[in-house]
Amino acid sequence: MVQEQLNTVRQNIIQACERAGRKPCEVKLIAVSKTKPVSMIEEAVAAGQRVFGENKVQEICDKIGQLPSDLEWHMIGHLQRNKVKYIIDKATLIHSVDSIRLAKQISEEAKKAGVTANVLLEVNIAREESKFGFMEEEVETAVREIAQLENISVIGLMTIAPFVENAEENRIYFKKLKQLSVDIGEKNIDNIRMSELSMGMTGDYEVAIEEGATMVRVGTGIFGTR
Ligand SMILES: *Cc1c(COP(=O)(O)O)cnc(C)c1O
Repeated sequence: MVQEQLNTVRQNIIQACERAGRKPCEVKLIAVSKTKPVSMIEEAVAAGQRVFGENKVQEICDKIGQLPSDLEWHMIGHLQRNKVKYIIDKATLIHSVDSIRLAKQISEEAKKAGVTANVLLEVNIAREESKFGFMEEEVETAVREIAQLENISVIGLMTIAPFVENAEENRIYFKKLKQLSVDIGEKNIDNIRMSELSMGMTGDYEVAIEEGATMVRVGTGIFGTR
């Protein structure tokens, strides 16, 4: 079942890329395996999937130990500062930097571990009260401040779009995030890249790809409902 759903998602990604005149290799599929057992992740691995997303530090640590060591693990959920030390050398990318204090903690722990942490800044692009993330107008200042920190590199932006029935309703937010990343990229801030845009989930990843997503985070569409 996992393999079939994975193949369907892959086909949908290819078609969305075709519609947008983009190359499928520009879009990385992150299989969001939170709450799902290792056995289902193994099914995805058998079908060639190498990149997984999780939103809990404990869960990443547990699963990493039971799976091949060549997989990529992306931290996509809200990260508490006191947990940074446990994943600093395990997460390929932290998608969810939502405060300067968290960025400072990541910088400190990365320095201790002798690594450079790649991160995305989470943007609350639809200004939802319930969501974490920087407001659009705060992002440039945050990026400039984080650029000064050691052992941390901002390589793009991430957003969790609103939950909607019709994915088209989120197109405006994906456009906004893309524009924001272009605007900030053009400032040529040292130590900052705006090459990645993590946006789009099961309900709306095709629209997100049409609007420039370089990473889509798909859970339910691959592993079924949680
Ligand atoms: C759970 C989660 C996803 C995947 O959601 P689906 O709707 O199941 O695809 C994507 N991004 C984040 C940040 C999540 O927490």
